[in-house]
Amino acid sequence: MESLECHRAGEEPVDNPSDLAQTYNIVEIFHSVQGEGYRSGIPHVFIRFGVCNLRCEWCDTNFDEYEPMTVIDILADVLQYPCKNIIFTGGEPMLNDLWPIARVLKRRGYHLSVESNGTVSIPDGLLDWVCISPKDQMYPQVSIKQRSGDELKCVYVGQSLTMYDELKEGFNHLFLQPCYDENDTVERNGRTFALTEEVVKQHPDWRLSLQTHKWMGIL
Ligand code: SF4
Repeated sequence: MESLECHRAGEEPVDNPSDLAQTYNIVEIFHSVQGEGYRSGIPHVFIRFGVCNLRCEWCDTNFDEYEPMTVIDILADVLQYPCKNIIFTGGEPMLNDLWPIARVLKRRGYHLSVESNGTVSIPDGLLDWVCISPKDQMYPQVSIKQRSGDELKCVYVGQSLTMYDELKEGFNHLFLQPCYDENDTVERNGRTFALTEEVVKQHPDWRLSLQTHKWMGIL
């Protein structure tokens, strides 16, 4: 049975108390279905961290509004959902030391994914699934430190895909995602979708990723 207990009488501690006391700045925790990329369609618990080191103009996350939560608070929240898949997202989750929360969740059998902008290296063994979504089409001066992972997911704003020629070698799956602007017109978003589809047809090592959760009107 899932438990918040950090130890049982007569047994070695299950959790390190300092891991449980670790505090993170959290925007929100919610249960939904991954709407984009390789794991699209799989239910996950999303843990959204506050703070990002970039400011993309299409960003739809208010990562400046967050509350400090301990790992034990986060775990209590996560345990209420019948779901063993977790996504660390943000903001930029890798600005945090994720080892404490990862140890606590892995011990309980959770599958841990991250969605990161790639500007911070990710330690080996920390996570089960690494999705890097670089923003160097907007920030060419920002170097991508995490150059390997399961999934490379790029927002298409008209950039040449040759900019990923070297980076893409480190990833198993390549996704191109049209930049969807909620404040833009249906016609302009539609043109972006059509253009992205055309680019994917010309570059068949890439697959089209759509933010299906937005189409469904869910988080
Ligand atoms: S890297 Fe992600 S979270 Fe940060 S500003 Fe860009 S889209 Fe938003």
